[in-house]
This record gives sequence, C-alpha cells and structure tokens, in this order.
Amino acid sequence: MELRNLGRSGLRVSAIGLGCNNFGGRIDLEATRRVIHKALDVGITLFDTADVYGERGGSETCMGQVLGDARKRIVLATKFGMPMDDTGEREGASRRHVFAAVEASLRRLKTDWIDLYQLHFPDPRTPIEETLRALDDLSRAGKIRYYGCSNLPAWQVVEAQWTAKMLNLSGFVSCQDEYSLVVREAERDLLPAMRAYGLGLLPYFPLASGLLTGKYRRNMPLPEEARLTKTQRLADRYLTEKNWNLSEQLIDFAEARGRKPVELAFNWLLAQAPVASVIAGATKPEQVEENAKAGAGKLAADDLAEIDRITLGAAA
Ligand code: NAP
Repeated sequence: MELRNLGRSGLRVSAIGLGCNNFGGRIDLEATRRVIHKALDVGITLFDTADVYGERGGSETCMGQVLGDARKRIVLATKFGMPMDDTGEREGASRRHVFAAVEASLRRLKTDWIDLYQLHFPDPRTPIEETLRALDDLSRAGKIRYYGCSNLPAWQVVEAQWTAKMLNLSGFVSCQDEYSLVVREAERDLLPAMRAYGLGLLPYFPLASGLLTGKYRRNMPLPEEARLTKTQRLADRYLTEKNWNLSEQLIDFAEARGRKPVELAFNWLLAQAPVASVIAGATKPEQVEENAKAGAGKLAADDLAEIDRITLGAAA
C-alpha cells in the first residue's frame, strides 16, 4: 500500500484509508470487526471516524473494542463538533467543548492519543482563535498529534491558517470535504487555497455513497441492503438524472479499458494534487479488499483529460 504525507506534515497515511461512519450504526460490532481486520490485512493505515458516527459514539466505541494492539500501528483520525445530545451543550468548537469531547473520544476509542483531530463543521459561535488555541494545547499535552478541519469554506481555511501563523500555533494540516467524480465543487476555491497553504485533502463520499461502484443501474431494481437503497435522503441526492448520465459514461469508460469503476473513482482522486488519502467507507470485508486493490493503479494523462471532458462536460 502506497503511503503519502498528509499535506506538508510529516504524518504518513495509506493512499486508501477506511471511512468508519457505518460502524455501530448501519453495521454492528461483529461486522465492524470483519471490516477492520480486513483493512489491517490489506495494509490500510488511516482510519477515519467521528464522535457522532454510529448514533453518537457507536463508531468510536466499536473501534475501541476491535482495534486492540493494532491501534499503535494505525493513524487514528476522529472529529468533534457535531451535537452529541439535544441539550445544545455537547457540540461546537469552544475550548470547553473541545476539551470535553477529546476526553470522551479517547475513552470510547480506548487510546491515549488521537493522531488527527478534526473540526467536523464550522462553528459560527466560536472565534477560530479559541478553537485553534484549544487544539494546539491538546497537541502540546500529547492528547492529539495533528489537527485538521472539515466542511470549512475556503475563506475560513485561509483565515484559520493566518490566525494560526499570527498566534504561532501549528495550524490545520488537512481538510476533509466532499470530492468525487460527480461532486467537483471543491475545485473552484477550496483546492487552490489548500495547495497554497500546503494542506492535505481527505475526500469524503469518494464513491458518491456507492453510485460510482457501478452496482446501481438506471431502471434496474436497487441492490438489496445497499446504502442508496436504504437511505432515501442520500438516494435523492445522488440518484439524479444528471448523475445517472455521468456514472453510465464513467462506467463505460472504465470497462472499455478493462478497469473497474471503483478503480477509476480512486485513481482519479489520487491524481488530484492535494489528495492524501481516499477514505472509502465499507460494510463488508470484500469491499475493503476491492477498494485497497483499486487504489494501486494509475491513470494516464490522456485518460485524465477524457475524464475531465466527461465530468466537466456533464456539469456545463
Ligand atoms: P463513500 O465512500 O462514497 O461510500 C461508501 C459506501 O459505498 C459504503 O458504505 C458501501 O455501502 C459502498 N461501497 C464501498 N466500497 C464498495 C465496493 N467496493 N463495492 C460496492 N459498494 C461499495 O462514502 P462514505 O463512506 O460515507 O465516505 C467515506 C468516509 O468519509 C466516511 O466513512 C467518513 O469517515 C467520511 N465522511 C465525512 C464526512 C464529513 O462531513 N467530514 C461526511 C461523510 C463521510 P453499502 O455496502 O451500504 O452499499
């Protein structure tokens, strides 16, 4: 498995990571165990979760129960900031909540440190200097190694990096945002800002929740138990006329070259400059195996140009 630096940091992560948002929610502890063990077997080192995943705490709890000694060998990434209950008190990016949230995550994950601690969403009620100072203090205390952000617009990323510089703090090393062959909006402002500031990108929804695997076909029954079959909100978002057209062209393109659609989705992402690791979610070990293999390929320059023609042409 290829290892890449996360942005300008020294942190090395596997080019294919494991997204852990299914654990403790869509899949139970035993199914989680099978997925995690397969990921370890195929050389995945980056595991990305969040305090809120798995019905508020379930993903981290399952991971804490399964990882055992393997925890020392992996890069464990989690997030804070989303509501952990309905009181309005266990959420956001205040110093008070960041300090409480990290302790709760460490307890659930059964570890003494988090490798990458990420602000899940912007918190408009907390000044960014307060959040950055709290994160920097956590890193000095050894509770976290690096910190990153997620879902911040480009201007907030730039503001955060300038603020960190002014305050002599280490600052974010990464951004985690939606980016895939069907959702390329990050290219307009966010990616140029990230390149300028040397941040690494962890693209989420890299398979558009499974659409880009080719297992969903227009006018065919949806596969049983699959995410877009079970989650109407995501189906409404991804199974649109435009995306059917686009995914059909991409699948044809992949198959004409003897490649799987998943390979195309991952190799294209890994060819985009700030992408450090593709964190793909999985519900079954076979998916993890396929995803890890798919990340090993490369796309030639003329293939990348043709993919741009298909995807940007569809957006026009
Ligand atoms: P994704 O990678 O686009 O889709 C993953 C889903 O596709 C899997 O759960 C599985 O669903 C299906 N799948 C995966 N590999 C497959 C394969 N080889 N063949 C067939 N189906 C396959 O989306 P994601 O997992 O939601 O996103 C990746 C990670 O990003 C998450 O796990 C999470 O860590 C992170 N994330 C972050 C944010 C944020 O706001 N920061 C938001 C969303 C996600 P089924 O088996 O159920 O069909």
